[in-house]
Amino acid sequence: MAETIFSKIIAKEIPADIVYEDDLCLAFRDIAPQAPTHILLIPKKPIVKLADAEPEDQSLLGHLMVKAGEIARSEGVGDAFRLIVNNGESAGQSVFHLHLHIMAGRAMTWPPG
Ligand code: AMP
Repeated sequence: MAETIFSKIIAKEIPADIVYEDDLCLAFRDIAPQAPTHILLIPKKPIVKLADAEPEDQSLLGHLMVKAGEIARSEGVGDAFRLIVNNGESAGQSVFHLHLHIMAGRAMTWPPG
């Protein structure tokens, strides 16, 4: 997989406001937040997009989902947050390293744009 801004953040080659890290994943604040709380949660494994995940990634994806809830709780947003995965350019993906947007702190509209 080609190097991305997120692989450089994982390698600590560029700075980020990291809020959580373990062996499998890293979470940091979005540089252009679209909500009062806007965190990106990424696997350290370089998966380009969600649709490229393999059956062997099942537990990693589950880990991300569990950690998303824990990170939201640790941010004090209670149970109200939104998780977004943009898969592919026309769906809004601009960085091609799988990431979950954890957004909270304002009313969310539906459907999303
Ligand atoms: P997406 O459009 O779903 O691929 O989301 C990419 C997100 O990465 C956007 O919300 C950007 O604001 C965010 N982003 C890009 N560069 C950085 C960076 N260096 N640190 C933190 N967030 C970033």
